[in-house]
Amino acid sequence: MTTAQSALLAPAVRLLEAEAPGPVALDRLYDAVERAVALDADDLVPPTLRGRPTKEPGWHRNLRNALKAEKVAGRLANVAPGYWTVARPDAERHVDPDRAWAEVVAAARRSVGDVFESPSRGRRYRVSGADDGRITIDRLDASKAETLSPVEVRRAVVALNAAGGRTGARTLNYTVTKETALVHLHPDLDWDGGRVVARDRRGTPPSTAAEALDRLTRDQLLGAIAALDAGAETAFADSRDYDVVHDGRRYAPLRVAALAAESVFGRPLRPHSDDGDPASTIKGGLGSPCFRALERNGFDVVRKREPADGPYPDEVEPVGPRAEGGRVRVWVDRYERDPALRDACLAHYGSVCRVCEVDMAETYGPLGAGYVHVHHVRPLAAGGERETDPVADLVPVCPNCHAMLHRGRAPDDPRAVGALRAAVQSLRRD
Ligand SMILES: [Zn+2]
Ligand SMILES: [Zn+2]
Repeated sequence: MTTAQSALLAPAVRLLEAEAPGPVALDRLYDAVERAVALDADDLVPPTLRGRPTKEPGWHRNLRNALKAEKVAGRLANVAPGYWTVARPDAERHVDPDRAWAEVVAAARRSVGDVFESPSRGRRYRVSGADDGRITIDRLDASKAETLSPVEVRRAVVALNAAGGRTGARTLNYTVTKETALVHLHPDLDWDGGRVVARDRRGTPPSTAAEALDRLTRDQLLGAIAALDAGAETAFADSRDYDVVHDGRRYAPLRVAALAAESVFGRPLRPHSDDGDPASTIKGGLGSPCFRALERNGFDVVRKREPADGPYPDEVEPVGPRAEGGRVRVWVDRYERDPALRDACLAHYGSVCRVCEVDMAETYGPLGAGYVHVHHVRPLAAGGERETDPVADLVPVCPNCHAMLHRGRAPDDPRAVGALRAAVQSLRRD
């Protein structure tokens, strides 16, 4: 039996964490795995490529696939071909993955017919088409076309953010044409000495209050909470629907964010209802820059009242038994009914809860074996336009943790899995 990808990954991640911010060469990760894992004879069989065996043992490729899945999820960064680090985000070079496709496709529409070059090899390209689902790029010296999709753009931006906004060529996409087109089209990306860099906002003051919110750090938000505790006043009224919870106390999200952003923006932020300069006004609500700033920095934004529709407001439904395993019954968020995606998620993560690590088979025996919920990290309303990525978008969780991910939240806005996991683990350590 070949060793599971998760078992290969664990010693590699330990080395990356020990050497953070790295980078660590792939050969050293192989060494770390070899020292820590008792490899099976099956691990040593070389995989075949186009019908021929390759020159390396199969576990090398399995480890690389495990590393790539961590990169897609934004937990590891591949900062140059063959070099890895743990994620090391830089708030001043952050690129918004949710807005990236809209910006890139808008730029592509404006520049259909324009010719651009790759930085190193001087290949020439032309955007030949752009619609909501893909951008087509022609290679002028090879009469070959490539396409760029929303999922590819999102993955590349997540990878760039994990690398701190600076990364080597051919790490955002292994296809030169796709990577070159992305850097050419995204307004915040550029080449610098053969590396891709995101625009550095240090030193340039934010032009709008929303931009100031985008740059907030956790320390600035904690400072605002301390100031509110000490009686600081803001122009914002108490919140109506949502609170941010910190150390068991509730605060109005707009008060916290506006107070924190004041020093970044250089003047007070104003409520949306104000008549003043629109650039200095903000409003709250799900998906607003205010809520995003709080959640990106690890704060919990919760509904004031429990929703009336039960523990999983995204209506999980039984969809099992899965075709190939009679006993296995999987519940999924309503947004995710594709059995192939579900299976790909479970093949990657296994069926142990990613929050509390409970294995239902250990508690319930054969009855619980393989029973797990599949939670959608960023649920979309039915008919939404984004493709689902089974590793980055879906995670197996136990029913209790699934309920806690959704408790007090709007159906399309669950809590972050990583934040709940950290909270559960820190309670266990105490
Ligand atoms: Zn759990
Ligand atoms: Zn869910």
